[in-house]
Amino acid sequence: MERLTMLERRMELEGMKVIEIDKCKNDLKKLRDEVEKKTNRLNCPCKYFCTEGMIKVNPRRDVPTYPKYTLSSETIEALKKPTFDVWHWEYNEMLSCLEFMYHDLGLVREFNMNPITLKRWLLSIQENYRTNPFHNFRHCFCVTQMMYGMIHLCNLQGQVTPTVLGILMTSAVCHDLDHPGYNNTYQINAHTELAIRYNDLSPLENHHCAVAFQILAQPESNIFSNISPELFREIRQSIIGLILATDMARHGDILESFKEVIPNFNFGEEEHIKTLQMVLIKCCDISNEVRPTKVAEPWVDCLLEEYFMQSDREKSEGLPVTPFMDRDKVTKPKAQIGFIKFVLIPMFEIVMKLFPQIEEIMVQPLRDAMDHYEELMQMEDAMAEVQKGKTEMMSSGGKLK
Ligand code: 5GP
Ligand code: MN
Repeated sequence: MERLTMLERRMELEGMKVIEIDKCKNDLKKLRDEVEKKTNRLNCPCKYFCTEGMIKVNPRRDVPTYPKYTLSSETIEALKKPTFDVWHWEYNEMLSCLEFMYHDLGLVREFNMNPITLKRWLLSIQENYRTNPFHNFRHCFCVTQMMYGMIHLCNLQGQVTPTVLGILMTSAVCHDLDHPGYNNTYQINAHTELAIRYNDLSPLENHHCAVAFQILAQPESNIFSNISPELFREIRQSIIGLILATDMARHGDILESFKEVIPNFNFGEEEHIKTLQMVLIKCCDISNEVRPTKVAEPWVDCLLEEYFMQSDREKSEGLPVTPFMDRDKVTKPKAQIGFIKFVLIPMFEIVMKLFPQIEEIMVQPLRDAMDHYEELMQMEDAMAEVQKGKTEMMSSGGKLK
């Protein structure tokens, strides 16, 4: 009896602890929200945590200190392929890989870049990506590495000018600079400073591009400081065109114009090359699912984490909630099946008409990813059925019908 009483007392105490912990969790959440609201208000009069004047482009004349990482011959080979394990590397190593790509493609020679300026530029780029779950420096690295891979796979070096290669690579590196982690819909609905500055017209992409040229406006990190003003103007115009093309709101239009030029594609025609460049950066931007499952799948978790952050904020601010970002509605397979089927496969199949060699290396993995998520979806559905059955049984007082 004594033992029983003791155990009952203990259970009572433990139960109180659980209640205390829950209370504590609630208090913590409330405090965190308050602190976040306050800091936002202090830094910026509008809801958006703005960064104007905070871009990290402080003059930097020293030689960057990221340790030189010597790439092994295996890494150099792997770097050219979509199977490259992008999770295996730390920031310093990714910086060395990017540096290597610029040398390897002959861009340093072509634009007469100072190799130290290239290092400083890359470091400044890395510092101007935020630590968002998805839109971070590793995403920038993925997109650029995929571009490097496609340049090799499609043998672009033999078909376009070195200037075009420089534009493709540099646009990929810069394409999501200073992404705040909330998409254009949020920016526009919340009337953020970015949306107001760019009149609701691709506010994020305009911002990424402006930050890119703010960095290049610093002489110590201007990789294009040794080229003629005419060539700089041409490169600038093209980079702007490509970064703005990454706004998914323009997806349909860009794909349509590419489809039109495909039947008589001519690598000597400026307009054709321009459309091709846009489609290439778009392909690389959303290419995670081209990678092997173990590399691709963690990216979906990152994307959903960022989506949920946005939808939670939309709910708490009374803004329209973007349905595909709602944690109560979306799951991993749900998010991927539609995206692979209606966005990725159709786009890559069009590119395949111009470069048939991408079928085995890029399109087939997409079809496999689709099968993988369909299987996951079936498992999810089966689990939901079982759960439903259990709930029904409980509510009928355990009596089977
Ligand atoms: P961003 O330029 O923002 O990196 O890419 C464009 C948008 O495409 C992303 O913000 C995201 O909404 C969408 N996207 C990219 N990759 C995936 C993916 O693997 N799955 C889904 N569902 N959406 C993606
Ligand atoms: Mn991107």
